[in-house]
Amino acid sequence: MAYKITFIPGDGIGPEVMKAAKRVIKASGVSIDFEEVEAGEKLIEKYGTPLPGKALDTIAKNKIAWKGPITTPVGKGFRSVNVALRQKFNLYANLRPIKTYEGVPSRYENIDLLIVRENTEDLYAGIEHMVGEDAAESIKIITRKASEKIVRFAFNTAIEQGRKKVTAVHKANIMKCTDGLFLNVAREIAKNYPDILFEEIIVDAMSMKLVMNPEKYDVLVMPNLYGDILSDMAAGLVGGLGLAPGANIGDQVAIFEAIHGSAPDIAGKNIANPTAAILSGVMMLQFLGEYQAANKIEQAVAKVLKQRTKTTCDLGGNSSTTEFTQAVIHAL
Ligand code: NAD
Repeated sequence: MAYKITFIPGDGIGPEVMKAAKRVIKASGVSIDFEEVEAGEKLIEKYGTPLPGKALDTIAKNKIAWKGPITTPVGKGFRSVNVALRQKFNLYANLRPIKTYEGVPSRYENIDLLIVRENTEDLYAGIEHMVGEDAAESIKIITRKASEKIVRFAFNTAIEQGRKKVTAVHKANIMKCTDGLFLNVAREIAKNYPDILFEEIIVDAMSMKLVMNPEKYDVLVMPNLYGDILSDMAAGLVGGLGLAPGANIGDQVAIFEAIHGSAPDIAGKNIANPTAAILSGVMMLQFLGEYQAANKIEQAVAKVLKQRTKTTCDLGGNSSTTEFTQAVIHAL
């Protein structure tokens, strides 16, 4: 029986990379019935919202969605569709694997990190206000419940993926209440996983160590804001945003996407790198338990990246999105 999955092409380069990634998934032989829905700025005129009820209904029904990036205006206009989806479906875990692939220009070898970012609270709770005209406040929220959930998720995923170490990233030396709570919870939960090494590190030191010796780390678990920043930085260690996939996972619903945005500077030119979108499809197949197809696709992507005969412009080549995709399909 075919899986039924909500498919959101997104905007900017979204439709280009998602169409490419869909071709690869279909060519892998897994039978998926994609239910396509739109979301984003272009819908506001018609529906008064960038995230119409129809999109939400199909995600709630299918439980799994695969989406392209959606543009969010800075400092004005509607709320981020991505943040709205995370909150609506309580997608508490944001998973971002960061891996070196041979053939991709990078200063490092052998990076294989999994960043597990808490996805629902911290400064992203959006509780902020002006204090008079010349000051503003934003409230950082950390709860025991969400911290327990994300740390447990990190340890369980470490076990599932045969990983050895979980590092909790924090700034509890300064934010003693909020990050202090997160860290205490991490220490408590770690005791239940004696086979996984646990360590803790302050976020600024983590940034330096990730740049100096990223291959020494395995699973990193952290509150929302640090996870957002460190995962983009870590993507830079392995060759850029065009390569990094992500998953937003809750107890009921999971949404898979590349971590890059809609890249308006290169949209509509058929030159975007579809690797991150394809690898987000690989994460989706792993989630579905379709490990054979997931491995096959990842190996095909790795082979094409290594050969460097079809390379997109972000990695120093001049192949189109379509040419790269065709090469991946051919390598399956
Ligand atoms: P971006 O990720 O879109 O682009 C940053 C840079 O990386 C650009 O130079 C772009 O050309 C390049 N790039 C990104 N993906 C690429 C790819 N696949 N191939 C080749 N080059 C690629 O970040 P931005 O410019 O800060 O954001 C643009 C818009 O995307 C904003 O409105 C932002 O809010 C939105 N955004 C959406 C999501 C999402 O939907 N999940 C995530 C991040 C940003």
